[in-house]
Amino acid sequence: MTDSKTALVTGASRGIGAAIALGLAQRGYDVALNGLPNQDHNLSQVATDIRALGQRAEVYHADVSNHTQVNSMAAAILHDFAKIDAIVNNAGILIAGAVDGLPEDAWDSVMDVNAKGSFMVIQSFLPAMKARNYGRIVNIASIGGKHGAPEQAHYSASKAAVMGFSRVLAQEVGPMGITVNCVCPGIILTEMGRVNLEDPQVRNAWQEKTALARIGDPEDVVGPVAFFASDESAFVTGQTLNVDGGIVFS
Ligand code: NAP
Repeated sequence: MTDSKTALVTGASRGIGAAIALGLAQRGYDVALNGLPNQDHNLSQVATDIRALGQRAEVYHADVSNHTQVNSMAAAILHDFAKIDAIVNNAGILIAGAVDGLPEDAWDSVMDVNAKGSFMVIQSFLPAMKARNYGRIVNIASIGGKHGAPEQAHYSASKAAVMGFSRVLAQEVGPMGITVNCVCPGIILTEMGRVNLEDPQVRNAWQEKTALARIGDPEDVVGPVAFFASDESAFVTGQTLNVDGGIVFS
């Protein structure tokens, strides 16, 4: 039995979530990897990479927007790992579309996964965190929730919801030793990031807009998440940190 910390990363099959899962394992965490069943191959590969680092990794299939699946996942993780130290709510979707003509189901899907999904995952683990008077909750929001771009109003709304939710939750659970913070990635080269980056002109424009003059990689998000997941940030809660190379300055 090791005394490793245990972290859950949702949407860990690829992109930012896979990078965070590996980055936490490199920092000594055992990791519960969440994703959808259709990504089982990728999830298994991330688990193999983590085990090669000497940390424990287990895969849990669950759609974070499905209450029953989320509760079953939480029960299984708590059974297998006996505790949860950190939750990283990373699973997210982006369906581009202008408000004029945006289908209702696009609004619902984006809100369900990005906003309600984070709420339900957190709620399912709160009793376990409260029982230990300890927890680190890191929600992956977006600079889109502060600034946004055309055709992403519903995505922006979902990420703003995550930030507002996090600020209030931080106040509710602070007395129990649980911190809640948000990381807001900027333009990061992932499958989702390609929505913003497909057109070379748009890509160059984003690069020019960025103080560090480059597009981000998933690994760029890892350090700030690890900080909020660790005890280095024990006196920091209810905050949002832009991890965008210098696009949004507030
Ligand atoms: P990505 O490459 O599309 O990965 C998203 C991950 O979430 C995938 O593993 C995906 O699984 C999973 N997922 C989607 N819906 C899910 C659900 N209902 N239940 C469980 N898992 C689900 O995106 P990314 O760029 O790494 O984004 C990760 C997070 O960062 C998201 O919250 C996103 O909003 C945020 N973010 C990204 C950027 C960017 O530029 N990339 C910028 C700001 C914020 P499948 O592969 O099965 O779909």
